[in-house]
Amino acid sequence: MELAVPVEPLAFGGQTYTAGGQVDVRLDVSRTTGAGYALRLRYDLRLSGPCMRCLEDAGAPVVIDVREVHQPTDDDENLISEYLEENELDLRSWVRDALVLALPVQIVCGEECLGLCGVCGANLNHDPAHEHEPEPDPRWAKLSELKLDG
Ligand SMILES: [Zn+2]
Ligand SMILES: [Zn+2]
Repeated sequence: MELAVPVEPLAFGGQTYTAGGQVDVRLDVSRTTGAGYALRLRYDLRLSGPCMRCLEDAGAPVVIDVREVHQPTDDDENLISEYLEENELDLRSWVRDALVLALPVQIVCGEECLGLCGVCGANLNHDPAHEHEPEPDPRWAKLSELKLDG
């Protein structure tokens, strides 16, 4: 069956990413021989939010295809789905958890993104030749500029 499931904005790496408010998912449910359920959840979406390096608009496509087996008559805890209770499926939590697990390590506008200048915060993609004079270290004064009283 096809269902529309709300997706809250997601905090990740100090930034916030959105999935357009909701996502259309495909849910397949079948009964197992042991009076349980086998569930399959599929959806894809595009997360949008800032590039983690340069803060310009970026996004990441996410494709989800996950399964759960719920076999409450079995003593094996791995066969009890945390998303199923009294025959009700917490689809919203499952959609969100699957999304979090599928996140890329970093969301960037491009692999070659140069990020921001650590000194002035300028976007180095726009100004790759950008340079600063090295800051003088105030602990060291030039001997030639000191007046040494004999
Ligand atoms: Zn970037
Ligand atoms: Zn700079």
